[in-house]
Amino acid sequence: MQTRLLIDGAFVAGEGAVETILNPATGETITEVPEASPAQIDAAVAAAETAFPAWARTTPAERSAMLAKVADALEARAEEFAKLESANCGKPLQRVQEDELPAIIDCFRFFAGAARCLPGSAAGEYMEGFTSMIRRDPIGVVASIAPWNYPLMMAAWKLCPALAAGNTVVLKPSEQTPLTTLALAEILAETYPKGVVNIVTGRGETVGAPLAAHDRVRMISLTGDVATGQKVLEAAARNLKRTHLELGGKAPVIVFDDADLEAVVEGIRIFGYYNAGQDCTAACRIYAGARIHDNLVAELAAAVEQIRFGPEADAEIGSLISERQRQRVASFVERAASQPHIEVVTGGRIVPGNGFFYEPTVIAGARQGDEIVQKEVFGPVVSVTRFSDVEEAIAWANDSEYGLASSVWTKDIKKAMRTAAALQYGCTWINTHFMLVNEMPHGGMKRSGYGKDMSLYALEDYTVVRHVMVAH
Ligand code: NAD
Repeated sequence: MQTRLLIDGAFVAGEGAVETILNPATGETITEVPEASPAQIDAAVAAAETAFPAWARTTPAERSAMLAKVADALEARAEEFAKLESANCGKPLQRVQEDELPAIIDCFRFFAGAARCLPGSAAGEYMEGFTSMIRRDPIGVVASIAPWNYPLMMAAWKLCPALAAGNTVVLKPSEQTPLTTLALAEILAETYPKGVVNIVTGRGETVGAPLAAHDRVRMISLTGDVATGQKVLEAAARNLKRTHLELGGKAPVIVFDDADLEAVVEGIRIFGYYNAGQDCTAACRIYAGARIHDNLVAELAAAVEQIRFGPEADAEIGSLISERQRQRVASFVERAASQPHIEVVTGGRIVPGNGFFYEPTVIAGARQGDEIVQKEVFGPVVSVTRFSDVEEAIAWANDSEYGLASSVWTKDIKKAMRTAAALQYGCTWINTHFMLVNEMPHGGMKRSGYGKDMSLYALEDYTVVRHVMVAH
């Protein structure tokens, strides 16, 4: 198993503290990964800085070809990567094989095309006697920090636009889930000139924080918790580096009385619990119209009881990432259940055994001010709240510190469009939820952060706009 860092084209063992890597579905140790020492972090940044000028001069066609090559290499080893990701995250193998790997490979292919299609204003004589033109140039050394919920996908979302645009990168996976990123390092080392991509492992405080504070890093991109985003922003403020923050979410799901109940129930059953709810877009905060509410709660609870969870390859959902995360989820549910107006309709218990499983849970009777409605649980827990009219539903949906994803369910397209226009979320789905495509942007508002992943907007985020003017 590949557990070494990639620095300046060479694989080197981390010289820092050793992290034990678990399979959270079984509780077993997979391996140990030493983290990067301060000197190794500096070496990775120096390598990226040295590689930058030549890399920035490569043509879009050359960068495109390398991204396409990574896609092909990943596709050839898809089975191996799926098994590794499944083991390191406790995800059902089939879901990784059928959902994640194809989307990750497609991300590399999308950016291979996008690298050659940067849009911009037309050059022209905006002042008589002078020609103006726009350039979009790479920024320099980008440090990217990824979370544990979709490790390889987050690595792809960060690497692809940064490399397509001509930046060099130092990528840090989550200390809990480094294995697929470390395996990807083999493909990257075969594809890219030395120093263009560097992979360093380690914890947030010891490796992430020095990258965020580093003087030679020009941009920092983080997907993680809101509190981590705040720390990264404070560190970045000291040398005014560019920031790109994809933080948490608490997606509202507005279900109007005229919605197709069967589709809603099926949708929430899938999109509320996918990846054991450890997803920043999870359909976790349901607002149901007064007339559809009772049937929705009853049918959703019945559907959720049928969710097959466990360590099996064909389970629908797997374990939580750690015992700590499971305790966090359990304590949210305990505090909710202690409120007299709340009913835990199904689930609400830790599953005994070695894996970190938690029962898929439906909570009814939740009120707008309740913690379970306001805070991100990041587990298989969905709350349902009854609303009385459209304005109340929109106001409650927007009454959140988060602003990442939302959905509206109704057969009335006018109502759907009016509601979508009023929601303060980076994405609103109508009669679906959760679906992402590489051509469309993903990113938040409010404390969910800013900056886009995927799409040409991500490519723009990893470039700087420059004006060049020529006197005739
Ligand atoms: P986390 O913030 O604990 O860790 C994320 C990454 O940041 C890890 O690599 C960690 O080592 C690093 N980190 C921690 N402290 C740091 C510091 N002080 N400086 C620099 N780096 C530091 O988050 P997590 O628990 O790994 O992931 C779950 C969170 O990520 C949830 O809040 C979830 O909503 C969010 N998330 C958001 C998106 C999105 O697209 N908006 C996607 C996935 C996950």
